[in-house]
Amino acid sequence: MATKRVLTGMRTTGPLHLGHYVGALKLWKQVQDSGEYECFFLLADVQALTTHADNPALIEQSVSDVMLDWLAVGLDPFRPNVHFVLQSALPERFELSAYLMMIARFAEVSRNPTLKEELRGRKKGDMSVGFMAYPVDQVADITIFSPCPAHPGDQLLVPVGEDQIPHLEYSADLARRFNKMYGRGKNILLECQPMVGEVGRLVGTDGNSKMSKSLGNTIDLADPQEVVTKKIMKMVTDPARRYKSDPGHPEVCPVFAYHKAFNGPSLAERMKLCRGAGITCVECKCQLAQRLNEELEPIRQRYLWAQEQDLVEILNRGNVRACQIAGQVLSAVKQAMHLDYPSLIKE
Ligand code: ATP
Ligand code: MG
Repeated sequence: MATKRVLTGMRTTGPLHLGHYVGALKLWKQVQDSGEYECFFLLADVQALTTHADNPALIEQSVSDVMLDWLAVGLDPFRPNVHFVLQSALPERFELSAYLMMIARFAEVSRNPTLKEELRGRKKGDMSVGFMAYPVDQVADITIFSPCPAHPGDQLLVPVGEDQIPHLEYSADLARRFNKMYGRGKNILLECQPMVGEVGRLVGTDGNSKMSKSLGNTIDLADPQEVVTKKIMKMVTDPARRYKSDPGHPEVCPVFAYHKAFNGPSLAERMKLCRGAGITCVECKCQLAQRLNEELEPIRQRYLWAQEQDLVEILNRGNVRACQIAGQVLSAVKQAMHLDYPSLIKE
């Protein structure tokens, strides 16, 4: 029977926001609930170091904060098919990463559009070597979960936001290269398949194309009701609509983008009202704040339950299963690369 796995993750650099929720977590929950996949959700504390090496306390705190957010949105590591995995506690992954670095080319990593976007406004020379190499390291995160030995129909599905697509294409390319170089006709590392939801990228409250912690334009899952409302009411709408009698242009309005992401059923009517100046921007924002608070309320409630769970025990269980799989993949990788030196080990 085909093995179907899901691998995906988040950096532990702070609280999660609505971008994470619509771009990733909703999809994760969908694949988890389908029951079709064994799911590995990775707490990427090592990747967090690529930009936050000077703040290990924040990363440590964020491991539990992110877990609480995951539990609050309904990820369920108490099911047998769901595992929360701590990246730094998976030594096999580091070893695979080191081998992949040898077949990855510097030029292809430098061309990666997501890396380029993240570098915008920063000096390349100031970035850590780990940051510049993280697209390769992330290939190890994914391929260490390859079914081993692989069978036709096996799947390694990666549900993510749209910004991750170049990384996933690269992961498939590098797996293919590895198999071609060392596989002798076998697929040792599986090519992953991306999965992106309806909202691949949520705009920030400042209208920037990506809601992101580092841009300070987030609505966090843990924000209380009044904070959510305040953040929405401060949002800038269509700049061309100076008076409420002016017709609006929903296609350029970030508030409308949120209605699109969270308030689907009323969309066509809202667009008509906005274009005909039949609704004010303040009314539109009040309705959005109310809708978002409705969406977040059950998450806030579950958060209270999450705080009572034994997070260490959840991680230990997840890592035991992850290490089992990773050990098999690493053995196959080392054997294929002539790195198992059987004669030396025998002596
Ligand atoms: P931030 O930029 O806020 O620090 P991040 O991009 O570092 O967040 P990651 O851990 O890299 O967070 O991403 C985790 C997942 O969340 C990825 O699948 C990513 O695509 C998704 N994601 C993050 N922000 C958004 C967004 N604004 N819209 C859609 N998906 C998003
Ligand atoms: Mg990121």
